[in-house]
Amino acid sequence: MFSSKEDFKQAFGLKLDQEFGKSIQQATDQDAYQTVSLLVKEQLVQKWKDTEDLYRGQSQKEVYYFSMEFLMGRLLGNNLLNMGALKIVEEGLQELGLSLSSIEEEEDDAGLGNGGLGRLAACFLDSLASLGFAGHGVGLLYRNGMFTQRFVDGNQVELPDMWLQGGYVWHVRREEEAVHVKFGGEIHSDEDDDGVLRFLSRGAVTVRAVPYDVPVVGSDMKVVNTLRLWAAEPNEEDLLHKASVNGDYHHFIGHQASLEEITSVLYPDDSHEEGQKLRLKQEYFLVSAGLQNIVSQFKEKGLAWSEFPNHVSLHINDTHPALLIPELMRILMDEEWLGWEEAWEITQASVSYTNHTTLSEALETWPVDLVRALLPRIFMIIEELNERFCQSLWDTYPGDFDRIAELAIIADGRVKMAHLSIVGSHSVNGVAKLHTEILKKREMKRFYETYPERFNNKTNGITHRRWLLHANPKLSSLINEAIGEEWVKHPEQLKQLLKYQEDSQFLLKLNEVKQYNKNRLASWIYDHSGVMVNAESIFDVHIKRLHGYKRQLLNALHIMYLYNQLKANPGMDLAPRTFIFGAKAAPSYHFAKKVIKLINTLADVINHDRDVNEKLKVVFVENYSVSSAQQIIPAANVSEQISLASKEASGTGNMKLMMNGAVTLGTMDGANVEIYDAVGNDAIYTFGLSSEEVLSYDRTGGYKAKEVYEDDARIRYVLDQFRHFSPFSKGNTEFQELYDALITYNDQYFLLKDFDGYVAAQHRIQRDYQDKERWNVMSLSNIAHSGGFSSDYTIQQYAEEIWKLQSVNVLKS
Ligand SMILES: *Cc1c(COP(=O)(O)O)cnc(C)c1O
Repeated sequence: MFSSKEDFKQAFGLKLDQEFGKSIQQATDQDAYQTVSLLVKEQLVQKWKDTEDLYRGQSQKEVYYFSMEFLMGRLLGNNLLNMGALKIVEEGLQELGLSLSSIEEEEDDAGLGNGGLGRLAACFLDSLASLGFAGHGVGLLYRNGMFTQRFVDGNQVELPDMWLQGGYVWHVRREEEAVHVKFGGEIHSDEDDDGVLRFLSRGAVTVRAVPYDVPVVGSDMKVVNTLRLWAAEPNEEDLLHKASVNGDYHHFIGHQASLEEITSVLYPDDSHEEGQKLRLKQEYFLVSAGLQNIVSQFKEKGLAWSEFPNHVSLHINDTHPALLIPELMRILMDEEWLGWEEAWEITQASVSYTNHTTLSEALETWPVDLVRALLPRIFMIIEELNERFCQSLWDTYPGDFDRIAELAIIADGRVKMAHLSIVGSHSVNGVAKLHTEILKKREMKRFYETYPERFNNKTNGITHRRWLLHANPKLSSLINEAIGEEWVKHPEQLKQLLKYQEDSQFLLKLNEVKQYNKNRLASWIYDHSGVMVNAESIFDVHIKRLHGYKRQLLNALHIMYLYNQLKANPGMDLAPRTFIFGAKAAPSYHFAKKVIKLINTLADVINHDRDVNEKLKVVFVENYSVSSAQQIIPAANVSEQISLASKEASGTGNMKLMMNGAVTLGTMDGANVEIYDAVGNDAIYTFGLSSEEVLSYDRTGGYKAKEVYEDDARIRYVLDQFRHFSPFSKGNTEFQELYDALITYNDQYFLLKDFDGYVAAQHRIQRDYQDKERWNVMSLSNIAHSGGFSSDYTIQQYAEEIWKLQSVNVLKS
């Protein structure tokens, strides 16, 4: 890497001139961004190659993390950080009159994901490389990432995110590694000379899959791993054939577009399955291209097939890549001529699966007719698999038709992807202790009875490099001053901060850092949305996808309640509060979009009401993304994690906020439970139904939202503001359906049931915050106990317990 500032400055000037023919005075931030990024790429290319040689040359085991989503965000800053060059480059640029942070802003987020699931994959890649594990991402190169969110009259409007248009610096096209993926056609079977049945496909459409590689730089550049993103392109032979038969150039261009469509766009649904044919094509395209490539690399090692699971681990992030199981069977049987038994043993031993949800609307199933038509050979294999599986159940539980019907992979005319994933893998993990228990005891009880040894927990994590070192440099420096830098390698050591719990001087410094970040966010909010917020107020942050179960509406109801109180009693004792939201709604999720409109309406009314806006402000940040999360999180005082207990599998936003000193206001759900266990009762605010209570209501009913409404005057008042003339409804019926969701449809997510507990917890927060020292102690405790949530520990566990990986270090080899 650059050995000194001078070294960097010289290289920068030279590169800028070469690429753009400009002097430093003439360079725009975009020019400077391109220039720095190109220099960084040049610096890591050799280590990237060395890493690959090391992995391929040795009998090194590699894991491939298959995911439909990688929510990477920006790469420049994190690459510099992990290369150990951040300081040199930052100071070098400064001496040239340039600012690294504004240059970083020039990079488009790689927004190839919806939310938690995709961001988890990105954090895992960072940890894999930073710990020196041979682990790679396999994903799709969507030309349109997660949509850009804009508000028009308070309503969400989606704009396409054409993030590749300006040319993406970080990926490298690997033409020579392209493969072909087949769709449709018919399968013919034939006996070969030895009397063995062979399956051949005829009339299939062939799509070319071209990989684009993104380097994943580990800390100290131990290794540089690869995120391989596949792009769909027409296959020239196929085109030639079409052209010679048909000869119609326009028809031909249309055909080309239909093939490229496969990787044209990320489906913008979080915790909900769309069931579109194109989505199924994407899923198969990912696993087929990824696997063909992995299999051919394995073959270059010249080992027996039985060695495959000792050299390759295939992980599927949720069920979206579950077709990997029949696809590996297909390759092993139809192309490598292995028998079923042997192929099955290899497949099961190689594949592991992470479950991310128990929400029924999110569970993936596909109509049998669609799978059969689009993927005829794959469907045959799934059918055979299902038959063998049901037969084995019959052997163990003869006559237990209910059990077999419940567990079958194909039932009611649909292929159940979760069942396929469990049956075809050797490890099934949940993403937080509570979630894994719910899987074992309820949602997958019968699978757990069948395969107890497969089930295990791996609580999610976040990379402290992006979410603390990079997002919050001021806090990182303060920590370094206090306890040295060991924690960067061993984040559990953040616990040493606990010795400052009674050190008023230190607590004041901690508060200064938070205030600095709040001031920074306040001006960012002003620049981005024109709202002036009081940087001394409590920053109460609710950032995540918009979804019924995440209960942003509960937060909104409380804000309406506070507003009404303040209007009635302007002198009431209330610590000034700024409620900050960030959330995208799936474009077809009508209810979620209404909640966005409501919160924007609250913001409009409250922020313009002189009676209250000294004490209350509401900000809905447009286009919540990884980069905006990096701005918001360091400035948060309160972290809203208020999902209905049992519904949020883990959450990772909760961990990022905790690590930056926000205090959690949460239900006992997902990893909130583990945060509670880590910080203890004194540094977290919990409320609401327990998951046991919710699951029992789900089972036996008995909840009547209307009764809560009738018994609680606060709730009645607020809900009636949706129906009658009020500052928020202005006499129209725009929010009637929110009332209907809560009353007519009996409040599916128990907002009214938890309202009282939520208000009480909010009240305790506003009281406690006024004791600044006490609050700072809570904040410190959260930071100190957050190290255990570094994804380094999560990945260490995956590597030891599921993937059986050894770490390597290219530096030392
Ligand atoms: C971490 C993160 C999420 C996940 O947030 P949760 O609160 O765990 O749902 C979603 N989106 C982005 C951009 C993130 O960085």
